[in-house]
Amino acid sequence: MLSLLKQYFGYDSFYPLQQEIITNVVAKKDTLAIMPTGGGKSLCYQLPAIRLPGLAVVISPLIALMKDQVDQLKMNGVEAELINSSLTAEEISGVQSAALTGQLKILYIAPERLGAYGFAEFLRLLPVSLIAIDEAHCISEWGHDFRPDYRQLRVLRDWFPTVPLIALTATATDRVRSDIITQLKLKEPAIFIASFDRPNLRYSVLPKKGMAASLLPLLDKYRGQSAILYCFSRKGTEELAHSLQQRGYKAAAYHGGLDSKTRTRVQDRFINDEIDIITATIAFGMGIDKSNVRLVVHCDLPKSVEGYYQETGRAGRDGLPADCVLFFSHGDRRKHAYFIDELKDEQERKQAWDKLEEVLKYGDLSTCRRAYLLGHFGEETAKENCAGCDVCLGQVTVEDATDITRIILTAVLQTGERFGMGYLASVLLGKPSDRIASSRHDRLPSFGALQGHKTAELNAVMRKLISLGLLKQSPGEYPVVLMTPKGHQFLDQKETIDLPSVLRSTGGRTKKLSAEDENFDQGLFDRLRSLRKELADRRGVPPYVIFGDRTLREMAVYYPQSEGSLLTIYGVGAQKWEQFGADFLTIIRKYAAETGVVEVKKGFIPKITRRLLGSTFGQTKELLTQGLTSAQIARKRGLAEGTILSHLEKLLEQEPKLPIDHLKPPSDNLRAIGEAFQKTGGWAMAPVKEILGEAYSYDEIRLARIFLTRE
Ligand code: ADP
Ligand code: ZN
Repeated sequence: MLSLLKQYFGYDSFYPLQQEIITNVVAKKDTLAIMPTGGGKSLCYQLPAIRLPGLAVVISPLIALMKDQVDQLKMNGVEAELINSSLTAEEISGVQSAALTGQLKILYIAPERLGAYGFAEFLRLLPVSLIAIDEAHCISEWGHDFRPDYRQLRVLRDWFPTVPLIALTATATDRVRSDIITQLKLKEPAIFIASFDRPNLRYSVLPKKGMAASLLPLLDKYRGQSAILYCFSRKGTEELAHSLQQRGYKAAAYHGGLDSKTRTRVQDRFINDEIDIITATIAFGMGIDKSNVRLVVHCDLPKSVEGYYQETGRAGRDGLPADCVLFFSHGDRRKHAYFIDELKDEQERKQAWDKLEEVLKYGDLSTCRRAYLLGHFGEETAKENCAGCDVCLGQVTVEDATDITRIILTAVLQTGERFGMGYLASVLLGKPSDRIASSRHDRLPSFGALQGHKTAELNAVMRKLISLGLLKQSPGEYPVVLMTPKGHQFLDQKETIDLPSVLRSTGGRTKKLSAEDENFDQGLFDRLRSLRKELADRRGVPPYVIFGDRTLREMAVYYPQSEGSLLTIYGVGAQKWEQFGADFLTIIRKYAAETGVVEVKKGFIPKITRRLLGSTFGQTKELLTQGLTSAQIARKRGLAEGTILSHLEKLLEQEPKLPIDHLKPPSDNLRAIGEAFQKTGGWAMAPVKEILGEAYSYDEIRLARIFLTRE
């Protein structure tokens, strides 16, 4: 099971209860799994689907989510398709015949399909291995999200009496739980309930003090990453988005008053990392599903603690640290009062008030916020200090930052005002590299002077010092940090300075080298991210379908430079390794050559490596020597042509004499593309593609580059 996990998903271990659930399903027993958002529910049916003969049917109510899952599965080499109302009749019959001819392992369908004419007959012809019902609480009228379409799922047990059913949900009260079991007619199901704690989320409450004072420092900490800001009203979301846009943030509003086209567009741009910040109403924003949201801010009071937990749950689904911040003011009570008093039903009104009071209590807590939130779901925490909320971390609003500022300014001077923020941070953190060694900066007193802090924090403090005018940056692509007269004055006159503590860690955490830590190499991460975006755009999928943030962070921690070590990285499975490995290695090697960083061993190179290593390049080479073109090889191997070209580049590195004359593009192409490269003065493809427009594809440019660089 573990080797399937690595091969198809690139993970090394299971999340809590996954293995137990999977074992139960593979043993063909009915299952009810209750896990929080981000708990890894999908894997609980996807892995059995791969393992069992036949095809797994997955019922899911959310169209966007289905597409996402199918894209990701395909990228991991699992044959998956979906059937829902977004497909044309023709497309649907295409998927159906693929299913009938045994070409699929997983088929996602929308619940209303079950009632469609002829669909039952189709399903019953399939060799169904298991049936998974996602968001199973939707079947219960007692739940908060009842969907009449889900009632049709009652027929599944009758149609497939011997097929194991697995129902999954993130929310279910006892009543809903037993309703799910009755409605779906689960047979003596094993019930698995995971903890609802989300250890990677940090909860904090800040006084509401206006945007510039409270929101902007937070947003700067997460600059270029994804954030959701919840506001009370539609108007509030619009105004906030607008004022953020004017300040140069990539923000957009998202609420129920927008037409569905606009909503979809905003959502797509968010998912594709084209906008960083979404301002959404509390009542809305259900459709947003993005794994690398790093920050969820409630600019106004949420309606209830349950709702708050649900909304903050959108942060950090990838398991990496994320912040959930509530801007708190008792005055906000009034905003809700108006709506609550409108409620006709006395009972309802009282309930609404009670719920709001619970939220106010959360804001005023002087005990662990996580314990309070979990208490609402009937979960008791054993830990005295959760180490992940402002109360437990003993945070204060501002802190004396005189020492840290002096150390940073001194380091800028001592290194001769010749380096960027990334390099300075490495010196201050005491991270050795060849580049630092060759400049002898590891002998400076400031080397390691701020050990124990995080790169992101130091960057945030440096940015803050830049905005305060103590430092400045040179213009250009690789800005250098410089002193200002004000900075000199600060050092000379022994001034003091306070900085908001959100920018600074409370320390105390043991340092360890991992992607969960924020100690990754931001410079490399940014380059990997642009590569990811380029690959995603070319394939028309969201960036995280290529690799999640956690994968890129690990690359920026371990600097893998061989095919084998790349496979040890989180999220790198066989198929993705084959498709994207070469491209990512090129970037990492180039970065290593420029900066002098060296590879850090993560762990054992997985067993599947050797087989893959030999085979993938070997196969491409074999077909190449048989005289096939790159397009033919791609088709034959079921890989993208770009991937084959990346193999080719790699093979030529080792064997420059490989016979590739039969791949040579027509001389007209070579000339046009060659001229474009000349104009750009480098070998990067994106600027050349821009010059040439639609005339040549990326693959044509890449192939031409191979020949142009040989001459
Ligand atoms: P849920 O549906 O429960 O909200 P998902 O199935 O979407 O959660 O999983 C959340 C994230 O965790 C996804 O990015 C998924 O790829 C990742 N994930 C799931 N299982 C594991 C695992 N065993 N190891 C590492 N990451 C995992
Ligand atoms: Zn706590």
